Amino acid sequence: MATFMSACESCGACCAFFRVDFSIYELQSLGGTVPDELAEEFNGNHARMCGTNAMPRRCDALAGTIGKQVGCSIYESRSTPCREFPEASEGCARARLSYGLAPLNNPFDALFGTTPAIDSWPTTL
Ligand code: SF4
Ligand code: SF4
Repeated sequence: MATFMSACESCGACCAFFRVDFSIYELQSLGGTVPDELAEEFNGNHARMCGTNAMPRRCDALAGTIGKQVGCSIYESRSTPCREFPEASEGCARARLSYGLAPLNNPFDALFGTTPAIDSWPTTL
């Protein structure tokens, strides 16, 4: 059986486009999984991944080169918003466009990660 590579492994755009907020109860110090040193307090109830608060935005846990090869250094411990962010969604498309990457607009793109970078795509929607 063939092994398909997720488009995310050659993207990473959403990890350097959105603020990443999650419940403080997902922090290791409060019984969760996210390392405290990679997050900062956002308000009394939520923490924010370091690196996603200011521009240029890039989560401190993101390793690699956006649009080429990336990985999440805390993949098994990442927060719920990271786990639930939908590949090939509108948000995914917005993040990809901001880095000159074409949206994933069909199931083959999502499965094979073959969508080419298109320099002429607009960078804002
Ligand atoms: S922007 Fe989309 S394709 Fe890129 S890493 Fe995020 S979910 Fe995956
Ligand atoms: S914790 Fe991992 S999946 Fe979540 S934004 Fe950072 S690099 Fe991306």
